[in-house]
Amino acid sequence: MNKKGILMIISGFSGAGKGTVVKEMLQRYENYALSVSATTRQPREGEAEGVSYFFKSQEAFEQMIAEDRFIEYAKYVDNYYGTPRDYVEQQLSLGKDVILEIELQGALNVRKMNPDAVLIFVAPPTARELERRLVGRGTEDITVIAKRMSRAYEESGYMEEYDYIVINEEASQCAEEIHDIVQAEHARSSRNHEFIHRIEEQLKDYSKGE
Ligand code: 5GP
Repeated sequence: MNKKGILMIISGFSGAGKGTVVKEMLQRYENYALSVSATTRQPREGEAEGVSYFFKSQEAFEQMIAEDRFIEYAKYVDNYYGTPRDYVEQQLSLGKDVILEIELQGALNVRKMNPDAVLIFVAPPTARELERRLVGRGTEDITVIAKRMSRAYEESGYMEEYDYIVINEEASQCAEEIHDIVQAEHARSSRNHEFIHRIEEQLKDYSKGE
């Protein structure tokens, strides 16, 4: 029988490079599945339906909420974002470790319903470096960058809610560190009740003669 996968959440400040880190993990290791979210925001250039997001109208999204088809959803800068339940549950039962790349509010909601979830926060080494990365993207103007930096400050107040903080100096090294964390999580005694029970039963037979 397959061991159940781990539900992992990866969050981080906008510009921390979590998208690249997640891509790296999917390329390097076999046991991960990435959940594709639904959103009501407009597709950006280069974003494909079903790959970047499932793009929905507000009505369609609200219908999905009413049908309880999300593990969690949140409103972020005027748009809905949500994690569809079916895919995540299916992949977990196949033994895959499922990655949700979601913002803070969603992460905390998932934790409430799934105490076993592993929350990982990807942070830049310094605030100055975060600003440098946002500027380097070249896609946002100065006011947007200032907004993201001030939002990062607000979010930093919640970092202690996460189980792990991983510094992203460089994407492949950061991916490796997250992979190591997930391997260690698999070894937790609380995730191995069945094995413990089984070996206890086996050992019982040996102790009978004493
Ligand atoms: P963007 O519009 O830049 O693609 O995403 C904005 C924010 O929404 C990011 O922080 C992203 O991680 C987060 N996000 C994406 N999908 C989901 C989701 O399903 N649920 C929640 N709560 N946040 C999401």
